[in-house]
Amino acid sequence: MKVAAILPAAGLGTRMKQSEPSSQALPRKQFLLLDGVPVVIHTIRKFVACPLVGEVVLALRPEDRPKVDELIAAEGFSKPVLTVDGGDSRQQSVENGLAAVAPGTEIVAVHDAVRPFIDVETIEEAIRTAADTGAAIVGIIPVDTVKQVHLHKITGTLNRDRLVLAQTPQVFKTEILRKAYDVAREDGFVGTDESSLVERLEVEVTVVAGSDRNIKITRSSDIELAQLFLREEKQRAR
Ligand code: C5P
Repeated sequence: MKVAAILPAAGLGTRMKQSEPSSQALPRKQFLLLDGVPVVIHTIRKFVACPLVGEVVLALRPEDRPKVDELIAAEGFSKPVLTVDGGDSRQQSVENGLAAVAPGTEIVAVHDAVRPFIDVETIEEAIRTAADTGAAIVGIIPVDTVKQVHLHKITGTLNRDRLVLAQTPQVFKTEILRKAYDVAREDGFVGTDESSLVERLEVEVTVVAGSDRNIKITRSSDIELAQLFLREEKQRAR
């Protein structure tokens, strides 16, 4: 089974910047240093450590590529890790990654570069499930009750038993994801994850249990949590 991981890492990190006074401008979240190592490198390490993954394709802003190519070379990864130009949307960044995977790739696993705490076992389970069924994403059941609102007024309460918070990796047979991107492009549909594109093809997507540790480093408050999780990971590895 030939599997490629695509890591979109071309975001501008505007949500994090907006929440900070300008004097405390932070590096974009994919380049925040955790233990002296950029978040994106931590994330690549997880996919390289997964025996099922054959290569990693990283989508970056063009101006970031030379620096990240250097960091990748310095890591001396045991598998091919290549970079491509990202786009103005996450969807475009992933599409560029998809165009660059090695010929004959049967399965692609798309994972946010800003989720470095994914564990290798979960990556494997999502890949195996997608290989069996065509499409699988990692998700968790919400602990909060979720309301629908319009102009600050509640219009409904969603049944928590039927909700899942979508994380990544989101894993698909390559032909399914390619078709989903073709159809989305034709329809002018832009989604916030890959699954939403695949769901439009009426392909069934299976949910694999994720973890609340698989955080997407988004807000400034996530940094302390990330530091804690990294310390714990290192302790477990000892
Ligand atoms: O924007 P969002 O929080 O959904 O970002 C999720 C991932 O997608 C991040 O790793 C981010 O760098 C990436 N992204 C991208 N290209 C964009 C926007 C986001 O690769 N244009």
